[in-house]
Amino acid sequence: MTLIRRYHIVKKFFSSQTEIPPNLPEKCTKRILSGIQPTGALHLGNYVGAVAQWLKLQDKYEIILSIADLHSMTLPYEPKQLSKNILELTATLLGCGINPNRVILFQQSSVPAHTELYWSLGCISTMARLAHLPQFKEKSVNLKEIPLGLLVYPVLQAADILCYKATDIPVGEDQLQHIQLTQDLARIFNNRFGATFPIPHSLILENKFIKLRSLRDPSKKMSKSDPDPKSRICLLDTPDHVLKKIKRALTDFTSEVTYDPKDRLGVSNLIDIHSFVSKKSVEDICREAENINTGQYKNVVARAVVEFLDPIQKSTAKYLQNEDYLLSVLESGRKKASELAEQTLDEVRMKSGLKLSVQKVNKIKASL
Ligand code: AMP
Repeated sequence: MTLIRRYHIVKKFFSSQTEIPPNLPEKCTKRILSGIQPTGALHLGNYVGAVAQWLKLQDKYEIILSIADLHSMTLPYEPKQLSKNILELTATLLGCGINPNRVILFQQSSVPAHTELYWSLGCISTMARLAHLPQFKEKSVNLKEIPLGLLVYPVLQAADILCYKATDIPVGEDQLQHIQLTQDLARIFNNRFGATFPIPHSLILENKFIKLRSLRDPSKKMSKSDPDPKSRICLLDTPDHVLKKIKRALTDFTSEVTYDPKDRLGVSNLIDIHSFVSKKSVEDICREAENINTGQYKNVVARAVVEFLDPIQKSTAKYLQNEDYLLSVLESGRKKASELAEQTLDEVRMKSGLKLSVQKVNKIKASL
């Protein structure tokens, strides 16, 4: 199926406007929520599929962007490395141009409302539904001992979204089922306890489904979790590393530079990367490369990538040198995010019977 066709099918399926329960009309504004795990250095695939979309959206909409540290605990990890990754990811996002005055950028674990709502939503989720999610099946298939977190993290994702009453969620294709779960949980909660959550929908943007592929095995996507670091270009890779990785990228035995994402995955992936970083069309790229072979073309791609990464790296390096500033950005994000999430949680506590008479409780507190 072509990318365009797949895009239209998915878009049609998910394009319904955010459903607003009848008694919530004016409360809901367009609010975008996204998250990224601090599980390692950002790569070019993350930039194409996520960061570039946030940069486009940040000038138009209210965006809440969480550094999803709780999600990164789902599989075994090294605590010191996690703290380092959180700061490095913050610096890299700022270096890419995320504007903390427009985006609420914060550390997920610093807002306890996420885990509190997660519990409420967990109580209306079923094991069968969670165990059927394709991501769970994929990630658990080779594990002898399956961490509970792997089964339940989509409920935490639902809480991440619903605690801000977010309406639009930019997601990758592989996350669409998790948005469906969120929609279902919001509906179940609304039906059981009274209209509370707008039903969020996935935001599918132009070129959203361009997926960069592994340089070593182009049948797989470029991924942070690939054990081979040569499979991905990290945003902070030195020019020398970029050149070496691209030089070693797997192509095929045909020497011409042609775009054929079905039968020539490797070279087409290099063209996708080149097209993205240079903003040139695939047609122009192939025309310009008519007289060179794929080996020579790799030098051209590497040069374009190095040029694209240079300003991001310079800016990120400055942020990395100023840890106090990074912490202040996260603290300011935490305050703004907490304020929004606490309002929702108060409503949730009230509707689900957890909140006792405020006046009486305050009186008693005062008398103690
Ligand atoms: P991850 O760190 O894998 O959870 O990815 C974070 C974000 O980057 C998600 O929105 C993904 O859709 C996006 N992303 C990750 N890998 C790629 C890739 N190879 N190509 C395009 N987008 C990607």
